[in-house]
Amino acid sequence: MADTWEKLKAECAACAACPLAQTRTNLVFGVGREDAEILFIGEGPGEQEDLQGEPFVGPAGKLLDTMLAIIGLDRSKVYIINMVKCRPPRNRDPQEDEIAACAPWLQRQIALVDPKLIVCLGRVAAKGLIDPEFRITRQHGQWYRCGDRPIMATYHPSALLRDPSKRPEAFMDLRELRKEIRAVCERTELYDDTL
Ligand code: SF4
Repeated sequence: MADTWEKLKAECAACAACPLAQTRTNLVFGVGREDAEILFIGEGPGEQEDLQGEPFVGPAGKLLDTMLAIIGLDRSKVYIINMVKCRPPRNRDPQEDEIAACAPWLQRQIALVDPKLIVCLGRVAAKGLIDPEFRITRQHGQWYRCGDRPIMATYHPSALLRDPSKRPEAFMDLRELRKEIRAVCERTELYDDTL
């Protein structure tokens, strides 16, 4: 039987496949347009995300919204998910076994969104989806393939908050992204962008 969002959400909500289930307040499934042409993938929920059940809220979320606005997008035009759906304690990186346990949900989400392109936010997603040896400082902004889709990684908004000196590099990544959106996306209208 074909997968559906309803089925996936109901099954995922009950997930206890890794130890993060024991410490979560809310499972953070995803947000945005479920048939978006552009899919953003972060690493895992932080404190505010865990409390509110939505990815990228709080200061990192505000910065992501600004990054989207720079290229004429907003959350209603993209879909946003994380590699793991439950918060790692004290905001540590998700561990390999947790990412592996959560991968089937991620793969089903990717299949249902069926995006034209994927953007990894930060090195955890890039290592999981592009190359286990991915070096974000060297390889951000370059296009790779994920199956038959273009995929790139840029800095996670939290990293840009910690180190604003990386923002000009992220800005260049966004220019690359906008170019690719214009090349491969058919339904995504960009608002007047400032880039
Ligand atoms: S992080 Fe993923 S695999 Fe682990 S309990 Fe949450 S939904 Fe399940």
